[in-house]
Amino acid sequence: MSKAKVATVWLDGCSGCHMSLLDIDELLIDVLRKADIVYGPLVDAQEFPDNVDVTLVEGAVSSQDDLRLVQKIRQRTKLLVSLGDCAVTSNVPSMRNPLQPKVLLQRAYVEGADVNHRPPTDGVPALLRHAVPVHEVVKVDLHVPGCPPKADAIAFVVTELLESRKPDLAGKVKFG
Ligand code: SF4
Repeated sequence: MSKAKVATVWLDGCSGCHMSLLDIDELLIDVLRKADIVYGPLVDAQEFPDNVDVTLVEGAVSSQDDLRLVQKIRQRTKLLVSLGDCAVTSNVPSMRNPLQPKVLLQRAYVEGADVNHRPPTDGVPALLRHAVPVHEVVKVDLHVPGCPPKADAIAFVVTELLESRKPDLAGKVKFG
């Protein structure tokens, strides 16, 4: 029997949700018996593949690159999971939302800098006006709140989805 394909994606987040994923420790071996991790910070893959069964998305959608990537992921994924408060509500990344991106970059890279008083331009994706939760731009199949979600909750979610069951998260997750 062929293995399922699981991907993880790091948009505008701190990587804490991925750290929590790694904290599932030996349960990761169980997951890897049933599925291959085909994309994300944990593996060396350049292009998001086709026909992915489950994708865990960490982080808010904050830039044009985030938006393009998450739209591509949605087209190529059966089940898309918003993992963590930044993906679910936009959380910390949305703290910049009251400021126009131009003003934000001026504050960070000009007023707040000791050297090189100019915003970076080369290879830096344009910011969206607002950092937004994933479900504002694509359909999300499951929300898993937490900052970060606990490792056992992540293990439960992945295991249930790989068994084609909808995870019942009552009592297993909370915001913050
Ligand atoms: S939800 Fe918390 S742990 Fe996860 S990316 Fe956001 S700030 Fe980091």
